Amino acid sequence: MPMPTDAALRLRRRAQQEIRLVEPNQGGRLRVVLAYPNTYAVGMSNLGMHTIYRLLNADPEVCCERAFLPDDDEIEAYQSRGTPLMTVESQRPVSNADVIAFSASFENDYVNLVRMLTLAGLPPRAAQRNETHPIILMGGATVSINPEPVAPFLDVCCVGEGEGLVGPLIDTILGRAGATPATDSDEPWVDDGPPPRDVLLRRLATLPGFYVPELYDPHYDDSTPSGYPVFTGLTPKNGAPAIVTKVRAVFGGPETVASTAILTPETEFGDRAMIEVARGCTKGCRYCWVGYNILPFRVHTVEDVLTAAERWRPTTQRVGLVATALLDHPDIEAIAAGLLERGFKVFSPSLIISTLREPLLRTVIDSGQRTITIAPEAGSDRMRELIMKKITNEEILEKVRMIFRAGAHNLKNYVIIGLPGETEADLQALVELASSMREIMIEEGRERGHIGTITLSVNCLIPKPGTPFQWAQQIRPSEYRAKLRWLRRRLAKVPNVVLDAMSPRMAEIQGLTSRGDRRVADLIELWAETGSWRQAVREWEQRGGSVDHFAFRALQPTDPLPWGHLRTGASEAALGNQWRKALAGNVDAAA
Ligand code: SF4
Repeated sequence: MPMPTDAALRLRRRAQQEIRLVEPNQGGRLRVVLAYPNTYAVGMSNLGMHTIYRLLNADPEVCCERAFLPDDDEIEAYQSRGTPLMTVESQRPVSNADVIAFSASFENDYVNLVRMLTLAGLPPRAAQRNETHPIILMGGATVSINPEPVAPFLDVCCVGEGEGLVGPLIDTILGRAGATPATDSDEPWVDDGPPPRDVLLRRLATLPGFYVPELYDPHYDDSTPSGYPVFTGLTPKNGAPAIVTKVRAVFGGPETVASTAILTPETEFGDRAMIEVARGCTKGCRYCWVGYNILPFRVHTVEDVLTAAERWRPTTQRVGLVATALLDHPDIEAIAAGLLERGFKVFSPSLIISTLREPLLRTVIDSGQRTITIAPEAGSDRMRELIMKKITNEEILEKVRMIFRAGAHNLKNYVIIGLPGETEADLQALVELASSMREIMIEEGRERGHIGTITLSVNCLIPKPGTPFQWAQQIRPSEYRAKLRWLRRRLAKVPNVVLDAMSPRMAEIQGLTSRGDRRVADLIELWAETGSWRQAVREWEQRGGSVDHFAFRALQPTDPLPWGHLRTGASEAALGNQWRKALAGNVDAAA
């Protein structure tokens, strides 16, 4: 037996310190590696990763293990010693799998998809792989709204919610009876075992939620005024559908509740079980993909959430409730009360301010949560109306008083700058709002002798596909930097208020990869090769690429969109309607 490498020993130690509710079926005939394109600590904090791991291992014919990007201090050793990327559970090479399923939540992790494939010894481009290689697929929020920048690396992109995709995927790969037949009648498909790769991909492409990039040819028009070829559309071939529709999860029963499958001390919330109580949001803020794509708003019942929590009782008494719109759950107070009765402490990562209510607030603060996170998003009522965030500064400050009166020490605020039509007055309003929040914190904290911190967590507006702002123009890094400098100078005079901002580089990366088409894959690959975003951009632009074209251009409603072949939520007409209303300064009902 070969001596284990340092990397293998580190993975083994990591596996030994985990507490697992789910184990891989080592006898399963289909070997799947569930891969997260970031480090172990980041990936294990992702609830989607836990859910898909549990669902895959619930199938007795599947053995699913996990793989992550090695930590920063390990990468060089992997490269210099030629150590292959391995799984956490058995430290087997990732490349031995039949399927490698990536789960991605952030566009800035796309570079790590290429890095991980390279570390695994696999050609990063789908066109360079063949029958001898694993099937490489990716799912998750970003790929569901625009997979094109990573499409050349993938055999399959999963569009929609993983819970609805795992079953059909495994049935199809294993060629099991019960798999939905493909449309080609000359290919009988009844329990005939694993099909050849090209047949498998064509079969998957006929099912809702599976987009097979190689079955679509992109087209560009180079007769444009800017001289840079513009995307004009994708042509499907070999029976692939023109439109790929998204698949949704069905809620009902404790097994459908997304929740922590493995506890590990290496994550920020390694001491608590995270449990999803609701999915989606009814608010329809015009920049937010959740409000227009995670539809309809769905909730888990009190009983199902409590049953999911009970599984962790012997190990932890701390539960984190997860939902983008937690307080929209009609029974959220009953859920919190039920957990408290069973001896659990209850936490919540972030709360929507307009629906914030005292009972849940007191529950999380009494459980020991010191920082409450809200998302006012803008400093002026005018800007908030434009993005359709329906709450005024006066109402926000009332809620902030409620938060500090309930005993919170700190308040974290998510804020977006670079919104369409934003002026200095809107930024000034943000400074004043933060100052007013600080005054309330001091008034309410004085009695308890505790003054905490108000944090403004500032993001640059990234126009996201599938939202009314998908046509908006993103501000350039120079303008974003100037706005941040302006804010920092003003806030420096306000004690106890700190500004924590997305970097201009990150804003550029996100802008480019959010609305990019397949040509952006060349830049991602260069970035993975050089290890430097700046150098990659320089080389890409020398070869004819254009950051401006993808990241900082306003799109016209008539422009063909690289993600136009996906149907994930609200129709383009509905999004366009909201975009026009935003430009006209009109508020509207929720989506
Ligand atoms: S409140 Fe607005 S920003 Fe928050 S999840 Fe809902 S739609 Fe998105």
